[in-house]
Amino acid sequence: MISKGGSEALLQTLVDSARTASPDYNILLPLLRLLVKVGQRDKEFGKKALELEALDVMLILARKNLSHNQNLIHCLWALQVFASRVTTAAMLGINGAMELLFKVITPYSRKRARIIRAATEVLAVLLKSKSNSRRAVNRGYLNGLLRLHQDWQSHDTSNDFIQIRRSLLLCLKHITNIQSGREVFLGAQGMEILFTTTQKYLGNQSMDAIISIVIQILRKCYPKCSLPLATASSYYSFSVPGNMSSGPPCTINKDDFEEDGEEEEDEDSDSEETKEEDDDLETDLKKLTSKPVLGWTEEELKQYEAMCLELSHNFQELNSKSGDGLSSEEDLGIPQCTYFCNIPTETSSKRHCQERDQSPRGLETGDTNFQDPPLKQMKIMKSTGAITYEMAPGKIGPYLLSNDQEEDSSRRESPNTQASFKEPPWGTEVCSCQNKNTFLSSSIRIDETSETMSNVLERHPMDIPFHNPYTYIVKAEGTKSVPDFKVLAFPDVWGHHSPPFSQPMLERKCGIQRAKIFEDVQRFIHPEKVMGRVVFSLDESWLLQSTDATEYLKFSSGFESGNLRKAIQVREFEYDLLINADVNCVQHQQWFYFKVSGMKAAMPYRFNVINCEKVNSQFNYGMQPTMYSVKEALQGRPHWVRVGYDICYYKNHYRQNSAAAGAPGKCHYTLTFSVTFPHNEDVCYLAYHYPYTYTALMAHLDLLETSVNRKKVYFQHQVLCQTLGGNPCPLVTITAMPESNSSDHLQQLRQRPYQVIVARVHPGESNASWVMKGTLEFLVSSDPIAGLLRESFIFKIIPMLNPDGVINGNHRCSLRGEDLNRQWLSPSAQHQPTIYHTKGLLHYLNSIGRTPVVFCDFHGHSQKKNVFFYGCSIKETLWQAGCTVDTSIISEDVGYRTLPKILDKVAPAFAINSCSFLVEKSRASTARVVVWREIGVLRSYTMESSYCGCNQGPYKGLQLGTRELEEMGATFCLGLLLLQLKSLTCSSQFMAQASALLDARKDILGHHLQRCSGKSSGSSSTDMELDDEPPCMEEIDYSTDCSSDEETDIHELDQQIQEMALVEAVGDEEEKNGIDNRSLSTSELYVSKHWTRKSRNSPQSSESTEVSSRGKI
Ligand SMILES: [Zn+2]
Repeated sequence: MISKGGSEALLQTLVDSARTASPDYNILLPLLRLLVKVGQRDKEFGKKALELEALDVMLILARKNLSHNQNLIHCLWALQVFASRVTTAAMLGINGAMELLFKVITPYSRKRARIIRAATEVLAVLLKSKSNSRRAVNRGYLNGLLRLHQDWQSHDTSNDFIQIRRSLLLCLKHITNIQSGREVFLGAQGMEILFTTTQKYLGNQSMDAIISIVIQILRKCYPKCSLPLATASSYYSFSVPGNMSSGPPCTINKDDFEEDGEEEEDEDSDSEETKEEDDDLETDLKKLTSKPVLGWTEEELKQYEAMCLELSHNFQELNSKSGDGLSSEEDLGIPQCTYFCNIPTETSSKRHCQERDQSPRGLETGDTNFQDPPLKQMKIMKSTGAITYEMAPGKIGPYLLSNDQEEDSSRRESPNTQASFKEPPWGTEVCSCQNKNTFLSSSIRIDETSETMSNVLERHPMDIPFHNPYTYIVKAEGTKSVPDFKVLAFPDVWGHHSPPFSQPMLERKCGIQRAKIFEDVQRFIHPEKVMGRVVFSLDESWLLQSTDATEYLKFSSGFESGNLRKAIQVREFEYDLLINADVNCVQHQQWFYFKVSGMKAAMPYRFNVINCEKVNSQFNYGMQPTMYSVKEALQGRPHWVRVGYDICYYKNHYRQNSAAAGAPGKCHYTLTFSVTFPHNEDVCYLAYHYPYTYTALMAHLDLLETSVNRKKVYFQHQVLCQTLGGNPCPLVTITAMPESNSSDHLQQLRQRPYQVIVARVHPGESNASWVMKGTLEFLVSSDPIAGLLRESFIFKIIPMLNPDGVINGNHRCSLRGEDLNRQWLSPSAQHQPTIYHTKGLLHYLNSIGRTPVVFCDFHGHSQKKNVFFYGCSIKETLWQAGCTVDTSIISEDVGYRTLPKILDKVAPAFAINSCSFLVEKSRASTARVVVWREIGVLRSYTMESSYCGCNQGPYKGLQLGTRELEEMGATFCLGLLLLQLKSLTCSSQFMAQASALLDARKDILGHHLQRCSGKSSGSSSTDMELDDEPPCMEEIDYSTDCSSDEETDIHELDQQIQEMALVEAVGDEEEKNGIDNRSLSTSELYVSKHWTRKSRNSPQSSESTEVSSRGKI
C-alpha cells in the first residue's frame, strides 16, 4: 500500500476532509487511525505529510479539539507519527506544536491521563529535534518539565503512570542533548531533583524504564571537568635520539567527543559500522599480491649471520663418539654470547658486548649458578640450600600433562614448603619481627634489603619452577628505567605460582553500574561529603605519606612496570586512582600496577581508575583485576589471584583539558572495583593483569639456560639489539644439539626449517609474556614432543619486543611514544631498533632461502574472549570487502588456515571461530601483515589471548590464569609439530616418530581432539555466541548521548489505538482514573519487552566500535 502511493492518498483525504467548515469526525477518526498505522511503517511519511500540508491541518484540528478528548487523542497520535522525522518535527515546532502540547500537559492532573500520555509522547518525539530543544529551553519549558516530573513521580505512588513519567524523562533527556539545555537543567537543580526522585527506586527492577533514562540524563549533565592532574602528558619523559616523528598518534574515536551540532539530521545510521570496517579492508590487488623489494644491502644483511650461529658453528667440541665421552661438567661448546657481538649497528657494538654477563659460566652442576655471586646473599643461599636451581629437565614436566593433578601439585610445592604451611604462627611472626617495616612497607630495595629477603626466604623456603629470587635481584640491577626505579616489587622477586584452582568469570550483578553512577552523582550533589584527600601523587612529591597514618591507604608504584600517578581518597573506603600515560605520551592509560598497604581486613574498599581510555572493556564481561598479598605469599600462597567485585567500566565526566596536548575533549572511562583484603595491615599489589616484568624475563632466560640438558638442547641467548632505554633485547635460539659433529649431523641441523616467535610488543599485554613463558619452557623441556620439535626445527624467539615499555609501566608504546606494532613497514635502526633488527633477521633468513615456516606474534586482547589468530588471506579479504575482482584467477595457498584449525583441536583456550584472516589497511604496518607480504611468510600470525577468559571449550566460563596461558604457549608448539605432520615436506621418519609420540599421548590429547568432532556437528549457536558478548543482565550504557535509540516501539501506538477502541466499545468515554487495569498491564508488558530487547542489543552496538571482528592488534 505504501509503495503504491497509499500514504499520499490518505494524507490527501485527510487534508481535504479536515479543511471543510465542519469536518465529519465519523470519517476523520477512522481515517486518522488508519493513517497512524500506515504512517508508522512508512519511513517517508513525515516528509509526505509536510509536502501535502497535512501538518498545518493537524495542528489546527488539534487546537480546535483541545477539550474533546477523543478527537484530540487521535490528533496527537497523528502528530507523533509525523514527528518521527526530525526535520518534520522541527517544522511542527516552528508552527507552535510545543505550545499546544504544553497547554495539554500542564499543570499536573491525573484527569485525562490518556491524553497526557499521548501528549508527552509527542513532545518527547518533537524534542529530538535540536531546534525544538532550543525553543523549549528559551521558553522555560525545562523548568516546567522538571516540575511535572516531580509531581508525577511523587503522586504516582502505585506506579500506574510509568508511561507518562518515562515520556517526561525522555523530554528532559532530549533537551539536555544541547549545551544550553544542560546549563538550564543544572541551574534548575535538575541533578538534585532527578537524584532524589529516583534514588528510592534504584534496586527496583520493574522501574528500569525510568531509572535508565534518569541515569543517562545525570551522566550527560554531570559537568565535565578535566582530570585532577597537572598535565595530561606522562609524568616521565625521555629524550629520544632524533626528532620525535609526528608526535604521538592520536587515534581517537569520534564517539569520544561530545556532539552538539546545530543542524538537524535524520538519523539513518544502520550499517555505518560495518561499512566503516569494510572500508578498512585492503582491496588493492597489487598491494595484496606484490612482494615489495626490501631495501637492505647484502652487507646490512650480513650482520645477521652472527644471529644464526647454528648455521656456521662446527661443534668441534662435540666428541665424534656421539657424546658418550662427555662428562657433564665439560663445556659442550655452546657458543657463549660473550664471544659474539651480534649487534648489527656499528655505533653501538661496544655497548652491546658487555651486556651479557662477563663472568664465565661454569654452571653445569652444583647448587649455584654463579661462580662469583654478585651479591653477598648468594652465599647464604648456597649454605642453607633453601633455594636451589636444581631443576632437572625431567622435573619440569610436560605442560601437556598438566591435567594430571598429582604431578602438578608435586611440582608446585616441595614437601618442604608443604610442611611449613601447616605451621600457622610463622607467617605472622615474620610480619611482627623487627624487619617488618623495611620488609612490608617499602617493598624490597635492591641495595639494602636483600639481606632481609634472605632471612625471610630462609624461613619460608619455596620452590617455584624457573623462578629464583636471587637471580631476579641480580638481574634487576641491569634493568634501566626512565624513573630509575630502585625498588623491586615483592611479587616480582618472590615469584608467582599459579593457584591450585581455576577462577570463574565474575557474574555481573544487576544494577551495579547504576548504583556506582549514583554514588558518583552523589559527589556532585553533596560535595561536602567528598574527602578529596590526595594520598599519593608523583606530581606533588612533597605530599609525603606519613607512615603512621591509619585513616587512609598508602600507595606506591615506584617499581618496574608500576605506573600509578595519583591516588585520592574520596570517601572513607573509596579511592580515585589515576594512572600515568605512556612515557612521552599523553595517552594509553589502561595497564596498571601498584602497591597498597595499611588496609583493614574484611572492609570493602572501592577503587576507581578514572582515566582509562578504551571505550569498552572485558571488565564489563566477567574479567577481574589481579592481586598479590604479601602475607598470603609468606604463608605459602604466593599467588596472583583474580579479585574484586562490583566491577564495571563506564564513561565518566572527565574530559581532556583543551589546554592539554593531545586531543582536547577526549573522554575518559572509569574502571571501578571493590576489594576486600584478606589481612589487616597487609601489603598488596593490584594489577590490570598478571605482571611479567623485563627483569622476570631476563631471570627466566638465565634459569632456562642453566636448566637445559646441554647434551640435547642447543640453547643460545643472544642480544638482538639495545633498546632506546639501553636495555638488551634478548634473542633466543633453540634447537637440538647435533648428535655429533660429523658432517651428516651438522648438515641435518643446518637444514632444519626455522620457526620465528615474538611477543610483548605491547607492554600492557603481559598475558603474551606468560604464553611465551610456556612456549620457552616447553621447548627446552625433556618432553619427547619437545625433543622431536627441536630435532625438526630451529626456533628463533624474541620474547619481548618492547622491553622499555614493559619496564616503564607503559601500556602500548615505546619510549618514543610510538606503537611499535605500527612501525614494521619502515622501521629505523635508530628509532625502532627492536623492530628493525627483527625484520632484518627475518629478511636475512629469507635471503638465504630459509624463510620461516611460521611467524607468530603473541599479543593480549582486551575486548574479546578466548585465544585466537589474526592471519592474512587475499581471497578472504576480497570476499569480505565484496570486491568484484575475479578471485578464481588468484592462486592462494589455503595453508594459512591449517595451524589455527589444529590449535582449535588441541588447545583448550583456542577458538577458531574468533580468528580472522583479513588484511586491513590500518594494519598494513603490523608485524603480521609485513612479515606476510614482505618476507613472504604464508603463515604469519598474531596470536591474541584474552585478558579475560573463555566462552567455549573446556575452559568455558573461566578466566584465564597464568597456568592456562603457559599451557597455551606449550600447546602452540605442539601445533607446530602437527602442522609439520600435515605438510608435504614431512619426512617418513618424522611421521613415524611423531605418530608414535602422539599415540602415546592419545588419552591426554583425546579430550581436546574430541572437541573438534563435537564442535563441527551442529554448533550454530556457539558460532553466534563467539562473535558477540553474551547478553548482560543490565543495559551497559557507555555513551550518554544515545539519541538514536528507538524510544517508541512501533507497536506502542497500535496498542494505544486498540486500547482506545476497547474503551470506545465499552462506551466508557470518561477516564476517571486514567488507565484501566487491562490496558495498564498490557502497556507494562510492552515496556518490559522493549527493555529486554534493548539490553540484548546494546552490548553489541556499543562494542562494535572497538570490537570489530579484527579488533586492535
Ligand atoms: Zn597487542
